[in-house]
Amino acid sequence: GSTVGILGGGQLGRMLAIAAAELGFRTEVLCPDPGSPAFQVASAAHVAAYEDEAALRRFAEACDVVTFEFENVPARAVEVLEALTRVCPSATSLAVCQDRGQEKELLDRLRIPTAAWALIEGPGDIQSAAGRLGRNAVLKSRRFGYDGKGQARLDEHLDAAAAWRVVGAAPAILEERVPFLREVSVIGVRGGDGSFAAYDVAENRHEGGILVESRAPARLAKATAEEALSIARRIMEALEHVGVMGIEMFVTEADGGERLLVNELAPRVHNTGHWTQDGCIASQFEAHIRAVADWPLPSTARHSDAVMANLIGADADAWPALAAETGLALHLYGKSEVRPGRKMGHATRILPLGTLESGG
Ligand code: ATP
Ligand code: MG
Ligand code: MG
Repeated sequence: GSTVGILGGGQLGRMLAIAAAELGFRTEVLCPDPGSPAFQVASAAHVAAYEDEAALRRFAEACDVVTFEFENVPARAVEVLEALTRVCPSATSLAVCQDRGQEKELLDRLRIPTAAWALIEGPGDIQSAAGRLGRNAVLKSRRFGYDGKGQARLDEHLDAAAAWRVVGAAPAILEERVPFLREVSVIGVRGGDGSFAAYDVAENRHEGGILVESRAPARLAKATAEEALSIARRIMEALEHVGVMGIEMFVTEADGGERLLVNELAPRVHNTGHWTQDGCIASQFEAHIRAVADWPLPSTARHSDAVMANLIGADADAWPALAAETGLALHLYGKSEVRPGRKMGHATRILPLGTLESGG
């Protein structure tokens, strides 16, 4: 059998390792935190910093292919890995998707609609950009943001300097606030041979910047859903991305119809795709493992309607009650320490196909 290396040890790495094991692969995980959820299920653990080049080399030499469960990997680490083994997705996909500025530039180049935006290098830029975009805008750090962290609404801050401090006084973008009808996402997968598949569009609800629920199908006109998949494919082809990508979009109303604006790209398996574990023949995790291992892509067909809820900051006392519910698939991440806002697991309700309104 061959060995898949996973950089990063969070729940996404854990679920990737489980999917890899189902297909008979060994997994090796590299992550600095010895308590990481993925270490509990991996075949071998490398507890090391992403800057530790000797450890990265040992890791790469043990693996037939290396992939990532998060995008904030130092460029140097990718260089070290690429010199020794196959790495998917590529350094380019990671570099673009770890920087909101580069992401937006790519989307503009592909003529894929986004919220109006501007690059921000300092508080002075915020004033001039707000002149064009208005104060109903959100400042987002270009790098390292997740779960709505590293963002500041301009209309809630008295001055540009305050907003600049909130995002960490680092390169940012200012983005028009979109009056969206709903948020949706596409989980696409692309093979090294250019093959492509995507799951049905999911509809997502966030609270305070954190995903609380995803459902499939999304309430979306059929033509809009097709457009969402086509946008995903164009982005992944432009990046020559190999593996799964999660693409978040806003649905807005335009001329009585629906319009899609791309929000952000994740060059990896994605929280809004967890429903595929129980709603589809093959999950996003299996799809990713197959793509990076150069196997044929799986069927992405959905056999059920699904509603996935994140278990955020929930402690273990609540789990037996969930486990007792029929039709609910429980996935727990093995994190011992509960913290507010921390994703401890998710539960997916499975319903007969056609139960949920689809809008199409
Ligand atoms: P993730 O955890 O998904 O990576 P993130 O921290 O990278 O999140 P975004 O996805 O950019 O941040 O924003 C988080 C949420 O905030 C969005 O899902 C959306 O609900 C809201 N949001 C972000 N940008 C805008 C916008 N321009 N207009 C309206 N709402 C927005
Ligand atoms: Mg993000
Ligand atoms: Mg997001």
